[in-house]
Amino acid sequence: MNSRRDFLQKLAVSAAAMPFMPLISAASRRSILSATYEGQVLRVAIMGLGSYGTRVAEAMQSCKRAKLVGVISGTPAKITAWQAKYNIPEKNCYNYENFDRIKDNPDIDAVYVITPNALHHDQVIRVAKAGKHVICEKPMAVNAREGQEMVDACRHNKVKLLVGYRMHFEPKTLEVIRMRKNGEFGKVLFFQGQCGFRIGDPTQWRLNRQLAGGGAMMDIGIYAINGSRYMVGEDPIWVTAQETKTDKVKFKEGVDETIQFQLGFPSGAVASCLSTYNMNNLDRFFLNGEKGFAEMQPSTGYGPIKGRTHKGELTQPHMTHQTVQMDEMAGIILEGKQPIVPVDGEEGVKDLKIIDAIYAACKTGRKQELKLA
Ligand code: NAD
Repeated sequence: MNSRRDFLQKLAVSAAAMPFMPLISAASRRSILSATYEGQVLRVAIMGLGSYGTRVAEAMQSCKRAKLVGVISGTPAKITAWQAKYNIPEKNCYNYENFDRIKDNPDIDAVYVITPNALHHDQVIRVAKAGKHVICEKPMAVNAREGQEMVDACRHNKVKLLVGYRMHFEPKTLEVIRMRKNGEFGKVLFFQGQCGFRIGDPTQWRLNRQLAGGGAMMDIGIYAINGSRYMVGEDPIWVTAQETKTDKVKFKEGVDETIQFQLGFPSGAVASCLSTYNMNNLDRFFLNGEKGFAEMQPSTGYGPIKGRTHKGELTQPHMTHQTVQMDEMAGIILEGKQPIVPVDGEEGVKDLKIIDAIYAACKTGRKQELKLA
């Protein structure tokens, strides 16, 4: 992941090339897919039709078990455009004022919340009260207390809550996890996670504490936190952290620019991580054990993920992350399927507890004990 701008550039190029690539249309592909899958399909409404919501909607066109059937947006023109593009009926369209009425809509099973971070808490709780399953983007909230309230609300209303951790379904990542579980790295000793990009437009919500809940840590550093847990295979028991800020105008009070942090795990393994909004070319995981290593770069971008271990190149095929994620999440929600790495609300709260502790460590300069269980 170089920068979001790079992403957008590449996206524009590949999107421009797309009409010439497939020999069959998206509609035919959809009908072929649905013709080959006869199980129950998860009917999803997307809330927040921004850049990531758009990416998820596109990816869902190739899903077998999940289907985009509704939208929730504050912008009527976007709703009209999505209705036309994805054949969404008027009765499945809502805005931020009236979406509680979704509870009376039997044609929607789940809502995928893809709005700015600080809005997730209230929106997820409203969806839960409407009796619909919820998929919520990362970070699931802006602190662990809010995250726990979301978990409790979903439990109380008997709906499932999943967090959009797309890497938990990525084939090369899963191969490294398989190797680690199989003892192929020996005892894990060290993890390094470097995640960042140079952020552009100073007026965007990602640099507004009220909407983002923080800075780079909430947005991109969370990949190093979450990655350290699935790569090492344990939950950390302590964290230390140090913050540096080179631009106090762009990165205001409460909006972190660069944070380095260190995690300690029960086995004695340690992690050293970097989260930043001020450096490009940072998307790298390194795992070291007594018998071998895994190195991934890029490690959490939209892919293809690249990596090698002491045994050679990782060769698992690239699949569009959001397509695989949504098909797998349909299995989790509809059939109770267990993912290899959890994606439930409790998993999201663990990352938020670490983020809370990282901010506390930066402020106090003191090591923070972690109790994630
Ligand atoms: P975006 O700015 O492109 O889209 C946000 C959407 O929310 C917009 O459509 C906007 O109109 C809407 N919105 C509703 N209320 C708003 C308000 N009060 N202020 C501003 N916008 C409001 O952002 P995005 O990149 O799509 O990110 C949305 C969420 O998705 C974030 O939580 C982000 O962390 C997450 N995300 C996840 C991934 C991933 O790979 N899993 C990638 C990108 C973004």
